[in-house]
Amino acid sequence: MPDLRDLYQDVILEHSKAPRNYHELKTANHKAEGYNPLCGDRFTIYLDLQDDSIHDIGFQGSGCAISKASASMMTQIVKGKSRAEVETLFDRFHKLVTGQSANGNQYQLGKLTVFSGVSEFPVRVKCATLAWHTLRAAFEGKEEVVSTENT
Ligand code: ZN
Repeated sequence: MPDLRDLYQDVILEHSKAPRNYHELKTANHKAEGYNPLCGDRFTIYLDLQDDSIHDIGFQGSGCAISKASASMMTQIVKGKSRAEVETLFDRFHKLVTGQSANGNQYQLGKLTVFSGVSEFPVRVKCATLAWHTLRAAFEGKEEVVSTENT
């Protein structure tokens, strides 16, 4: 049994305590709310989309350290990226946290590789991916709450 403390690396704790881009976005033209009933994580993602690329992004809400740190680090890495680039990153991140990532597939994930430990704790996968599912919903302009139960 892996030690739960290994999951909470310094960078994850630091982002959960001081999340980046943690604010409502006045210029947002897309937004979505995501909810993970297994843990109680709930976030709203605000997007300022310009020509299908993320000009600016913000988020607000509450959740466990994993979900909040994941949302914080996601907002940093996706800023300036196109929807196609975000989908590629999400695919790599999802493989990483579900333990399907071979070395080399972590290309471009950068600091997000600290979440590789999540694969040892399947119940935490939905915490780590909630922000990404919500971001995808925001691209589609959905107004309803996205639940990880349906993913
Ligand atoms: Zn959680």
